[in-house]
Amino acid sequence: MSSDRVVLVTGGNRGIGRAIAERFVAAGYKVAVTARSGEGPAGTLTVRADVTDAAAVDAAFTEVEQQLGPVEIVVANAGVTKDTLLLRMTEDDFDSVVATNLGGAFRVVKRAAKGLLRAKWGRVILISSVVGLYGSAGQINYASSKSALVGFARSLTRELGSRGITANVVAPGFIESDMTAVLPEDTQTEYKRNIPAGRFGGVDEVAGVVSWLASDDAAYISGAVIPVDGGLGMGH
Ligand code: NDP
Repeated sequence: MSSDRVVLVTGGNRGIGRAIAERFVAAGYKVAVTARSGEGPAGTLTVRADVTDAAAVDAAFTEVEQQLGPVEIVVANAGVTKDTLLLRMTEDDFDSVVATNLGGAFRVVKRAAKGLLRAKWGRVILISSVVGLYGSAGQINYASSKSALVGFARSLTRELGSRGITANVVAPGFIESDMTAVLPEDTQTEYKRNIPAGRFGGVDEVAGVVSWLASDDAAYISGAVIPVDGGLGMGH
C-alpha cells in the first residue's frame, strides 16, 4: 500500500500517533506530525501546534503545505483525559477535554477541508475510543468528546462524500501507551478480564487500520466506526 501522498497526524510525537506516523513513513507517504513537545519519528516533518489554538493549527498547516505540499490525509489523533466522577468534575475538566478531543478535530479538519475539496480527494480519520459508545464511569468528559466524533465523521461524509473525500472513525480499546500505563495494575487486570482478546492492544494494531483507511482499498468506506479493541465494544 505504498503512496507518496501528504499525511498530517496530530499528536505524532508519542503513543498511537507516533506509530501511525511511522507506518505512513514506511509506506512512502510524506508525513508531517504536530507536536506540542518533542519530535515525530524519523522521516517526518515536525510542526509545533496545540490543537486548542486555531491560529497555531493554521500556521502548522501552512508550514506543511510549503514543505511537503497540500495535506491529503488528516489523522486527528491528539487527545487527553481528565478522569473523575460527574459530581467532582469541574467546568474546566469538561471543557478542556472537549476542546482538545472534539474541538481539536474540528480545527484541524476545517483547516484541511479546502485543500481536500480542491484535490477532489481526501481522507479524514478521527481517533475516537471504545468508551465513546460503551461508556465509562469517571469519563463523562472524555466519552462525550469521543462519541461526538462519530456524528462529526458522519456529517462530514454527508457534506463532502460526493467529492472523493471519506471520513471515518477508528475506535481503539485499551492500547499500551502512556495513557493506559498510568492505570493501576489491578485496574489493568480487571479490564483485561473483560476484553475477549484477553490483552491490551499494541499501537501498531491501530496504525495498521488507519493506514488501510487512507489507502485506495478503503475508497468506498465512509462514516464508519472501526473498532480496534480485541472485541471489548462489540455491537458499536
Ligand atoms: P498519549 O497520551 O500517549 O498521547 C497523546 C498525544 O496527544 C500526545 O502526542 C500529545 O502531545 C497530544 N496532545 C494532547 N493534547 C494536545 C493538544 N492540546 N494539542 C496538541 N497535541 C495534544 O495518548 P495515546 O497515544 O494513547 O492516544 C492517542 C489517541 O488515541 C487519543 O486521542 C486517545 O484518546 C486515543 N485513544 C487511546 C487509547 C489508549 O488506550 N491508549 C484508547 C482509545 C483511544 P504532548 O506530547 O505534547 O502532550
